Amino acid sequence: MDEPTVFGNRHHATRTTTDKIGGASMLLTPLKTERKLLILLLPLFALAASSAWALSELQGQARWYERYCLVPSAVGFLVLMVAAIVLPVRSIWRVRTATLVLGPGVVMVRFVQLLMDLHSDGFDENYYFNLSPWMILCAALYIFLLPVRLSWRFALAYWGSSLVLLAVFLVLPSEPLPVQVQTEFLLNYVIAPPVFIALLSAFTRLRTDYVRASTHAADLRELALLDGLTGLQNRRAFRQSFKRAKARQLRNKTPLCAMLLDIDHFKRVNDTYGHQVGDEVLIKLASVMTRELRGTDEVFRWGGEEFLLLLEETPSEHLEQLAERLRAAVEKEHFLEKSTVTISIGATHILPHEDEDVVYPRADEALYVSKRDGRNRVTIIDAPKGKPATADFQP
Ligand code: GH3
Ligand code: MG
Ligand code: MG
Repeated sequence: MDEPTVFGNRHHATRTTTDKIGGASMLLTPLKTERKLLILLLPLFALAASSAWALSELQGQARWYERYCLVPSAVGFLVLMVAAIVLPVRSIWRVRTATLVLGPGVVMVRFVQLLMDLHSDGFDENYYFNLSPWMILCAALYIFLLPVRLSWRFALAYWGSSLVLLAVFLVLPSEPLPVQVQTEFLLNYVIAPPVFIALLSAFTRLRTDYVRASTHAADLRELALLDGLTGLQNRRAFRQSFKRAKARQLRNKTPLCAMLLDIDHFKRVNDTYGHQVGDEVLIKLASVMTRELRGTDEVFRWGGEEFLLLLEETPSEHLEQLAERLRAAVEKEHFLEKSTVTISIGATHILPHEDEDVVYPRADEALYVSKRDGRNRVTIIDAPKGKPATADFQP
C-alpha cells in the first residue's frame, strides 16, 4: 500500500530562512577566520623569502637555494594570497593545504642545501642561523592552519626535528663552534621556538573558544527565532523584523503590508492522512510561499497552520493581486493524492504611524471574513477604519 505523501522539496524553505537570519553565515566563521589568517601570513612568508634572497644577492653569497627556491616560493606565497582572497570561503582548504606544503617545504630545501654544503666542505656555521625566522613562521603555520588537536603535535614535532638536524650540524664541523655561535643556537633554536609555540597556541585557543562561543550563540539564536518544523521564522522573530521594516517604511516612505494565511479545513487533512502528512503539508506550504514571494518578503509561522507575511514596498493595488496569486498557487500545487489544499487569506496595509500590535488583529479580522464567506479566498481591509471588502476569487 502506498503511503500518502506530500510532493516536492521539503528543504527549500528551511534553507532560505536560515540564510535570512544569518544562521548559515555564522557557521562559516571558522573558515572566514582562516582566510583572514592566510591573507595576513602569506605576505609575511613572501617578504621573508624575497628579503632572504635580496640580502644574499647583495652580499654576493647567493647559492642555488636562494636563486632557484626563494624567489619562486615568494611568488608562490603571493599567488596563494590572491587565491585566498578570490576563492569562495568554502574552498579555503585548498590554499591552506598548498601553504602547509610550500612553507615547510622551503625550510626543508634549505636543510638539504646545508647537508650538501657540509658534504662539499662549503659549510659556513654562521650561514644556517638565519633559518630561525623560517622555523617560527612554519610553526605558526601549523598552529594556525591545522585542526587544534593536531596543531600542537605538528608544531612541536617540527621544532624537535629541526632541532635534531641543527644539533647534527653543530657537532659535525671538525672545529668546535665559537661560544657566540653556541649562544645564538641556544637562543634561536632551543628557547625562542617553544616560547613562540606556547604564545601562538594560547592565542589559537582563545580564537577557538571565541569561534565556539559565537557558533553556540548562533545556534541558540536559531533555536529561539526559527520554527522547528518548517524552518520559517517564528512569531518571536516577527517583532525584530517588524521594527526593521517599519524603520525602512518611515525612512523610504514605502508602503508596508501584512497578510495572514490559514489552511482551510486542516483538521480534515490530519484526520484523513495522519499527523505526519499534515506536517509535510505545512513544510511544503512554507516552500511554496518562499518560492512565490520576493526575497524581501518575510514569512513567519504564527502558530499551527497559520502564517503571517510581512511585505515591504507592496503598494495597495498590488496587495490583492499578490494575495490572489499566492492563493491560486497553493490551490494549483499538488500536495496530496486525492484532495486539494486551499488557504484563506486576510490582508491589510500598515500605515506609517501604526504599531506592530495592530497588525495581527486587523489581518485576523480580514481572515475571519474570508473563512466566514466560504474559505479559499482573499479579503483585504484597506484602512484602519475601513470596511472589509471581500473579493471572491472562486472560479
Ligand atoms: P479552518 O478552515 O476553519 O481553518 O479549519 P481548520 O480545520 O484548519 O481549523 P483549525 O484552525 O481549528 O484547526 C487547525 C488544526 O491544525 C488543528 C491542529 O490539529 C492542526 N495543527 C496545528 N499545528 C499542527 C502541526 O504542527 N502539525 C499538524 N500536522 N497539524 C497541526
Ligand atoms: Mg485552518
Ligand atoms: Mg487555524
